[in-house]
Amino acid sequence: MTADQAAAWGAKGDHSPLMNNYGSPPRLFVKGQGAELWDADGVRHLDFLCGLAVTSLGHADPEIAAAIAAQAITLTHTSNLFANEHQAPVAERISELIDCGPGQVLFQNSGAEANEAAIKLARKYQGRGRHVVISAMRSFHGRTLATLAATGQPEKHEPFQPLPEGFHHVAWNDLDELERALSPEVGAILLEPVQGEGGVNAADPAYLQGVRALCDERGILLIMDEVQTGFARTGEWFGFQHAGVQPDIVSLAKGIANGMPVGAIWARDDVAAAFVPGDHGSTYAGQALALAGARATLDRYVAMDAPAVVRERSAALRGALEALDTVDHVRGSGLLLGIELTAEALAGRTGPEIARTCLDRGLIINGITPTALRLAPPFIIADQQIAEAVEIISTVIAEPGGSS
Ligand SMILES: *Cc1c(COP(=O)(O)O)cnc(C)c1O
Repeated sequence: MTADQAAAWGAKGDHSPLMNNYGSPPRLFVKGQGAELWDADGVRHLDFLCGLAVTSLGHADPEIAAAIAAQAITLTHTSNLFANEHQAPVAERISELIDCGPGQVLFQNSGAEANEAAIKLARKYQGRGRHVVISAMRSFHGRTLATLAATGQPEKHEPFQPLPEGFHHVAWNDLDELERALSPEVGAILLEPVQGEGGVNAADPAYLQGVRALCDERGILLIMDEVQTGFARTGEWFGFQHAGVQPDIVSLAKGIANGMPVGAIWARDDVAAAFVPGDHGSTYAGQALALAGARATLDRYVAMDAPAVVRERSAALRGALEALDTVDHVRGSGLLLGIELTAEALAGRTGPEIARTCLDRGLIINGITPTALRLAPPFIIADQQIAEAVEIISTVIAEPGGSS
């Protein structure tokens, strides 16, 4: 950050008022419009990360901003002691898009909370003794203690041991290993259709179909973590739809409300019925202000046919990236793409280092593994913005050891 940005951030001498949990942020942004962000020095940046796959319709969308503003001056919050006018329509919309038969929705405030609720629901439905949740290595399900336990990244567990028990991890995309892990205590399998934080690794459709068959055979619940992949990000409404499988529980957040903090779980009716009053709760979840954002966002996704838009924009972006000879391959789908760089292109640098240099050239992406970059631009990304981003990436790659 420049001195101006650091001052705006509140840093005073050596002591920041903020915990160092996120390290020292490289920018302080003050304004957004569409796919662009401006920092406190007035420097424009192209946003190809969308606040981690959240602001899919771009920043400061006038329609969504108006819906949130109108709600803010009407009614913000009443708690779950009472209903508000957005809960049922948003829940109906979610069920319609998930399209897996009759189901019900419970609102949350974030992805971790959605997974936490999904795990509690699975435990309640399956009963004691069938509490074990299997998830995949390199998965990411959140930072609360239980969702951290479900996250298949042992290095993240270490400082917080002991974690809640009843979590077991298996190799990604390996049906045989999963089957061997199915003890009678296993009540649920929790998977992302595309591992986002783990490096943009898609599940093979045959793997998900095999998992579904095993779940059916043994009465195990299939929970799909669609927190990052949901709401058209991958070019279908939900990632599981690429494989043609039907989950029993779906966890949702990120793209659901274009930036308002909303999470949710959907469950098929008989599973949803396991939660009765008193089982779970949240003061804020489903509040009118946040759901006004979700309602406007979901209406727009439907009106624009978001999956079709994403597939079309994805083809343009992917084509431009694949044309670079420094790119080994592009993986992922829709507008959740991982770019694996050749060793020659990396020239001793890491993915995060290359992403950092791109930031200094005004492009926001992130380094998702030591050798790969992640792109998650908004659905409204224009051809010219794609061309500009790909130009920055190719220039940065072409200058080994180059600095800003
Ligand atoms: C981001 C993410 C989460 C956690 O969501 P938060 O809102 O940060 O708690 C969980 N699962 C997946 C797949 C994610 O990408």
